[in-house]
Amino acid sequence: MIKTHNLGFPRIGSHRQLKFALESYWRGNINENDLQQLGQTLRQAHWQLQDDLDYLPVGDFSFYDHVLDTSALVGNLPSRSDAGASSLDRYFQVARGQSHATSHCQHVAAGEMTKWFDTNYHYIVPEFDANSSFELHATNLIAQIEQAKLQHKNIKPVILGPVSYLWLGKTKDNSDKLHLLDDLVAIYEQLLIKVAEHGVEWVQIDEPILVTELDSTWQQAFKYTYFLLNKAPVKLLLTSYFGELKENLHLACELPVAGLHIDAINAYDEIKQVVDWLPAHKVLSLGVINGRNIWKTDLNATLDWLEPLQARLKDRLWLAPSCSLLHVPVDLGSEDALDPEIKSWLAFAVQKLAELNIIATALNAGRGQVAEQLLENTLAIQSRTQSQRVHKLAVQTRLASLDINIAQRQNPYQQRVKLQQQRFNFPLFPTTTIGSFPQTPEIRQARKQFRVGEINAERYQTFIRQQIKFAIAEQEAIGLDVLVHGEAERNDMVEYFGQQLEGYTFSDLGWVQSYGSRCVKPPIIYGDIARAKAMTVETAVYAQSLSDKPVKGMLTGPVTMLNWSFVRDDQPRSDTCLQLALAIRDEVIDLEKAGINIIQIDEAALREGLPLRQSQWQAYLNWAVRSFKISANGVRDETQIHTHMCYSEFNDIIAAIADMDADVITIETSRSDMELLDVFNEFDYPYEIGPGVYDIHSPNIPSVDQIVSLMNKAAERIPAERLWVNPDCGLKTRAWVEVKPALAAMVTASQRLREQASIR
Ligand code: GLN
Ligand code: ZN
Repeated sequence: MIKTHNLGFPRIGSHRQLKFALESYWRGNINENDLQQLGQTLRQAHWQLQDDLDYLPVGDFSFYDHVLDTSALVGNLPSRSDAGASSLDRYFQVARGQSHATSHCQHVAAGEMTKWFDTNYHYIVPEFDANSSFELHATNLIAQIEQAKLQHKNIKPVILGPVSYLWLGKTKDNSDKLHLLDDLVAIYEQLLIKVAEHGVEWVQIDEPILVTELDSTWQQAFKYTYFLLNKAPVKLLLTSYFGELKENLHLACELPVAGLHIDAINAYDEIKQVVDWLPAHKVLSLGVINGRNIWKTDLNATLDWLEPLQARLKDRLWLAPSCSLLHVPVDLGSEDALDPEIKSWLAFAVQKLAELNIIATALNAGRGQVAEQLLENTLAIQSRTQSQRVHKLAVQTRLASLDINIAQRQNPYQQRVKLQQQRFNFPLFPTTTIGSFPQTPEIRQARKQFRVGEINAERYQTFIRQQIKFAIAEQEAIGLDVLVHGEAERNDMVEYFGQQLEGYTFSDLGWVQSYGSRCVKPPIIYGDIARAKAMTVETAVYAQSLSDKPVKGMLTGPVTMLNWSFVRDDQPRSDTCLQLALAIRDEVIDLEKAGINIIQIDEAALREGLPLRQSQWQAYLNWAVRSFKISANGVRDETQIHTHMCYSEFNDIIAAIADMDADVITIETSRSDMELLDVFNEFDYPYEIGPGVYDIHSPNIPSVDQIVSLMNKAAERIPAERLWVNPDCGLKTRAWVEVKPALAAMVTASQRLREQASIR
């Protein structure tokens, strides 16, 4: 019999119950007992939803992050957390700087947070130093095991493997992390003995770094670790996910564990080799349901390739989603507003597990046992492949006949810049902002009233115009050189455009955890992207009519639209990106025609799309940068294209950034004291740059002196003629009382910099 299991279930709850409970706890409105109770209720509900599985995952639930849970499990919470606080409060201190908003709760530096592989989930980076020592704290995990045993006969604890845990962490003193491996593995040995005492047979041990480029010392660390863990009195299911094993494939097959899980969606081409290489006593778990996307699986097609494997592997074949379902929303069942046809193409976590069950039943008992479900699935898959709403002839025809020069500006930058200088005649150190202004309670309320029908479109429109008028007046009073309309009409920079493009749809409750209690609801790209009509022209023209200074047209770039959405899986991502690029290109050209002379195209998420393996970066950057250029470059030489990115760590992709050929780029730099600009010393980047001088993630208001000093540092790396003065990012999360003095300081600083330059 084929066995089914799951690598992990979303923790937040179908209605984000965990988010709300956490936030109440942090505010001091509920106590630890209440929160623990909610955690238990959620776990029980989630196990109930997974009841059909042969093995139930336990330990995948977390109050904040599973990597931080691992730090707690092995006794590696940073010592700066308050030893006198409860273990839960210490945990939250490390997660977010403080546990709850009471006066006796200590504030400490929060642990660094970074992206979990190529997902939008963020984990708390483990901290090590040469003296790190470990100690097993398994009480929580054991309690959950005992709880789960009441609900299901076979449970499977889920733990992050020691090698990946070390690899994901940082040493604070530059010592070699691998020196800690021995001590750490000893704790894992204790843990495995302990869970065995609680009746556990199988343990899922995640080693996702197996899909990254590992040098020989890390490969050796794997051999060493699993040689030691092999003695443990449990069976280990070693899991890899998110990609191909490539050069680690042989290693993964040979490690002395009882089973190996591979991501059969992303590493489909490696299955054959794994089947050939995997020793005959080992279980092979195949991740056959995509845990990173929201599309229905083609069940018959999956069975077609699984049946021969089943004949070969027999009982050794296990099935699961490709990775933890943490990365998809919980339940499609509650999506009442989705178009029924589109809804029939989708599967969230609950539906994905149902698919898994159908596949397993078909394999164990024959397809006839689930004929009805398979037929229903066939119809849904057919409806999606054939739907007129997915495939649009006009889009296809346009794509097939693109001019070979479509990505190029009319003339090279050196020529354009002269025309632009003549046209705009900006002073040195021109000042601008990144786009959004504070999203006040008033704005949020108006948006809500419009959404629920309390105010009509006309009144809403009038309200937005008032906001624009206000923002323009403020900017003129402050004395900025290039203005923005303020983005009051945008709730989200992707959703706003998605809602106006064909090919996009939206869920009501399709939340996915991003970090801690923070969730995002990515829009869904289901079909060919087309722009029915201009999206921002009216607003931009109105804003420009209010000022003699240039007002930037403000758009979200194609790569960011793509990377922050659930993307269709029936064509390469690069094709979808190209469609987005063409839609935005049309908008850019319309803005230019309407008299908008500066257009900013934000690519906040360009870096996020980088593949896990550096060897694959260039291929991604090629199509991503080309898409950006297609969107931007339909304009005349005199039109100035700006782009914005929320990070400035692009030493490793600077050539691609330069290839974007944007006349001006604004980036986030203020916290790094401009050190992140060092890359411009070595790389000959010809364009203009606005390094952020106002940290918009902090309520602090920068002083004139601070800004001057930052800009002087920037000028050591980039010629002053090419520098702009602007904040790190949009100001939507800030308040006007902060924004006004901060921008005024920017303007004064810029005046001082100009005087300084004229004396020299
Ligand atoms: N234009 C956007 C804003 O100002 C950019 C946001 C971002 O880069 N994340 O809000
Ligand atoms: Zn930004």
